[in-house]
Amino acid sequence: MPKRPTERKTERSARRRTRRITCPRCGRVVRYADVSDVPSFPFCSDRCRLVDLDKWFEGEYRISEDISGADGGKRPGGAEKP
Ligand SMILES: [Zn+2]
Repeated sequence: MPKRPTERKTERSARRRTRRITCPRCGRVVRYADVSDVPSFPFCSDRCRLVDLDKWFEGEYRISEDISGADGGKRPGGAEKP
């Protein structure tokens, strides 16, 4: 359960100035008054942020896996009989 911040306070400053961000993940536009209103900044939600993080981790994992896989394919020791 996400805890709700006191919305009345943010509503006041929201009238003063509203900013917008476009989620780099899904392209959704998020309006906010303060960056602290968007804990998942610059993403629209925690979900999008995690998806993006996941993507990065997956990419890194893949790369390292590829490298180790290529290394494992080569036999540096030379002739090794099964
Ligand atoms: Zn998003």
